[in-house]
Amino acid sequence: MADYRQMWTDLEMDIDKHDLLCEALPEAFGGVYLTQENRPQSMDFFDFVVSEIHGVRPAELIEHQKTGGKVFGTFCVYVPDEVIFAAGGIATGLCGGSQFWVSGGEKVLPPNTCPLIKASVGARLDKTCPFFRIADMYVGETTCDGKKKAWEILASEVPVHVIDIPQMKREKDIKAFQGEIMDFIKVVEDFTGNKVTPEALGQSIKLINNKRRALQRLYSTRKASPVPISGKDALLVTQIAFYDDPARCAEMTNNLSEELEERISRNEGVFPENALRILVTGTPLAIPNWKLHHIIETAGAAVVVEELCTGTRYFENLVDENAATIEEQVKALAERYMKTNCACFTPNPGRIDDIIRLANEYKVDGIIDTNLQFCNLYSTESYLVKQAMTAKNIPVLHIETDYSEQDYEQLRTRVEAFLEILRK
Ligand code: SF4
Ligand code: SF4
Repeated sequence: MADYRQMWTDLEMDIDKHDLLCEALPEAFGGVYLTQENRPQSMDFFDFVVSEIHGVRPAELIEHQKTGGKVFGTFCVYVPDEVIFAAGGIATGLCGGSQFWVSGGEKVLPPNTCPLIKASVGARLDKTCPFFRIADMYVGETTCDGKKKAWEILASEVPVHVIDIPQMKREKDIKAFQGEIMDFIKVVEDFTGNKVTPEALGQSIKLINNKRRALQRLYSTRKASPVPISGKDALLVTQIAFYDDPARCAEMTNNLSEELEERISRNEGVFPENALRILVTGTPLAIPNWKLHHIIETAGAAVVVEELCTGTRYFENLVDENAATIEEQVKALAERYMKTNCACFTPNPGRIDDIIRLANEYKVDGIIDTNLQFCNLYSTESYLVKQAMTAKNIPVLHIETDYSEQDYEQLRTRVEAFLEILRK
């Protein structure tokens, strides 16, 4: 990584502690990613983003702030980024996926909190992530209990706005969510000093839709056999999409897809044609959480699709671009976001339908349902996932894990045993 020490100092980061993170990342990334064979050339861009992860993009965000722009940190796929961009702001994902930050979160959170929340809080309190330092406002949501309480802790550090996400999807809930988006527009307007006009919102709806289209195109290539890209690489692209510039991300993802489409026309893949095809579902895999994909793919199977927030939930469904007034646009936003199926909703049959549909579309041999420790929502829903998949004769392996390496060998053994069963 180039030298960004002055920038990190200006952000009042804990430089010594941050150095430890910077030292560990190249080896972790190299061991998981750069050891793969026959990677698409277009992954160079995404590798570069990781190699400069705490440098290039943070520097861009700071430039934006120097011209009076605001940066909003978000933690969930239900937050409508479109509103932020329409007011001249920049939205950046803040979800923590590293064990490095967990101990910082554990200083203030109960031990039985999921690692995603612990890492997110730890990244802020330990002052070891520039993105958490740069964001002028955090945008939280009322999705799960752990997050709801975490916002109260983070609010003593930085302005936090919490969007009330409904827990059901009845007509009146979708209407209530429209009201929440309207309130959010007002908050963002006041914070940025910029009006959200129908023209600006229309443009930002197209901007974010284009990123979704690019990710949809990328995922479509994974339906081919042999699969032209590893699950690890596809996951990395989705993880980076949460915080990269949306237009650049769409462009780079389209470049990658073009290369993959050429590979498909040559019948070229990164796994043999008879490799097992796996769907991963469950709790999000925030960057740099690559553990499960690495275990599956080094055991010889290909992850071909993720029914995750760092997967299809992030980009399936577009916002209607024909809405002309703010009211119509907000309705279109609410309708699109309420099509996303997270376990925080009850009932949540849409997620089961999604898993079955994706399993068929991507011709998977089996499903790995992964749960971050202490996420009660997804771990409880795993019972229903298992029941539905068994009824459809789709094999499922349920695992519960965290960000540490402690269960690595145990997980590997379980995954290998599952793959052995699929091969029979
Ligand atoms: S799992 Fe649910 S709460 Fe967590 S990021 Fe995804 S949508 Fe949001
Ligand atoms: S993984 Fe579960 S517990 Fe953790 S933040 Fe997401 S919904 Fe909440």
